Amino acid sequence: EVYVLRLGHRPERDKRISTHVALTARAFGARGIYFDTSDTRLFESVRDVVDRWGGEFFIERAESWKSLIKNFEGVKVHLTMYGLPLPDKLHEIRNADKILVIVGAEKVPPEVYELSDYNIAIGNQPHSEVAALAIFLDRVLEGHVFNAEFEDARLRVIPSERGKKIIEND
Ligand code: SAM
Repeated sequence: EVYVLRLGHRPERDKRISTHVALTARAFGARGIYFDTSDTRLFESVRDVVDRWGGEFFIERAESWKSLIKNFEGVKVHLTMYGLPLPDKLHEIRNADKILVIVGAEKVPPEVYELSDYNIAIGNQPHSEVAALAIFLDRVLEGHVFNAEFEDARLRVIPSERGKKIIEND
């Protein structure tokens, strides 16, 4: 099981990218996402997607990100361009029953590097938390994104070569 912690969300600037972080987490197979800041509108829009597209993904604010990391019973992985390459540690990380993966927005507090079991890079170039999270989840969950099932979905896509096919169940 993989959980995501999104650090440093700034409601006035990061709405769109944080929504993408949350939707990517859900689509690629994470169980849920914690934020260190509350943003009701963002949380509601993600819950609305869950409501329509199914599954049990949660989005919530962690009272304290520090205690969340400290008390998490599992392996804690911080994604950072300064870390070790994912392939070097993939086997160890994959063996864990529970994983907390931490992504930042701007600079993350230095403590995060200490509190995490692994500081992992998806390449050592600066890019995006969305890209980093997607690659991490894809590697750790071994392509789950391509066969994920979402329970009780009201909307489902019928994959098609051209155009948009959707079935609606009420
Ligand atoms: N400038 C910030 C810093 O020095 O920490 C990073 C900002 S970056 C836009 C936001 C987040 O994307 C980072 O906190 C990290 O989680 C993730 N990220 C960006 N590039 C990454 C990489 N090459 N490997 C892993 N994570 C990365």
